Amino acid sequence: MKFAIVSKGDDRSNTIKTTMKEYLTEFTLDYNEEEPELVISVGGDGTFLEAFHRYHHRLDKTAFIGVHTGHLGFYADYTPGELEKLIIEIAKTPFQTIEYPLLEVIVRSKTGEKEDRWLALNEAMIKTADGSSVVLDVEIKGEHFETFRGDGICLSTPSGSTAYNKALGGAILHPSFEAIQLTEMASINNRVFRTIGSPLILPKHHTCMLRPMRDSSFLISLDHFTKIYTNVKSIQCRVAKEKVRFARFRQFPFWNRVRDSFVADGD
Ligand code: NAP
Repeated sequence: MKFAIVSKGDDRSNTIKTTMKEYLTEFTLDYNEEEPELVISVGGDGTFLEAFHRYHHRLDKTAFIGVHTGHLGFYADYTPGELEKLIIEIAKTPFQTIEYPLLEVIVRSKTGEKEDRWLALNEAMIKTADGSSVVLDVEIKGEHFETFRGDGICLSTPSGSTAYNKALGGAILHPSFEAIQLTEMASINNRVFRTIGSPLILPKHHTCMLRPMRDSSFLISLDHFTKIYTNVKSIQCRVAKEKVRFARFRQFPFWNRVRDSFVADGD
């Protein structure tokens, strides 16, 4: 089996990368950064996002796993203490996988020349580039829903619901739901302007279309990187047909990860 390792780049993560690479190669696995069947991310959830975007073009052929070298992560959920066991488990391939939904974002320009398609593992955030309010027509499943005015809109995946979405007051969604969540960022609500005010959870077959109501440059953040767009006609968001696959060598239920990250005492 071919594998690759993406390290956060600090000394601890690099040492773990070297150890894993050595041992797995001794077990006759192939280190191959071009066409890995398993990508091991060593660092934090941020490193995992980088690993995902580096290999998002081959999601059907690649599974991911995360080792954390800081605090417990949602994607990086193996501890350095579990390394030896993990190496042996990986060497005993084939492994089981579980799949989580992703967010698809399509940005279309007014001229019709440009259409960009992105996948996000955590979320997409839409704000204006100059810090002014965004004014967006929000359409759900082909029907006008509201006109949003405010700092911005966040659309997150279930596994991203514990990230920026949570900070915005969104719900934590179990990744077995094929859904996306729309949360508001500081919406303007008064006698003139009105938004729903609650997070919305959209199922797989409900597309959310955002149409700018005035000319602005937009900052569209996709997980850990940001793009600037001008002349935007629409931003289409829905559950992607692709999924991310995680290699699974032991049980660590989602709600236990939520508890251990946010509620339980400890490091
Ligand atoms: P960062 O600003 O350096 O780190 C943001 C924090 O979010 C890190 O502690 C990261 O964990 C954590 N995180 C990432 N994905 C998560 C998930 N699915 N569930 C729970 N926590 C998660 O940014 P980054 O490392 O490049 O990561 C980008 C992500 O950070 C974005 O997708 C966004 O969701 C998140 N973020 C959140 C806030 C907020 O909550 N107010 C603000 C900015 C960005 P690790 O330390 O393990 O890497």
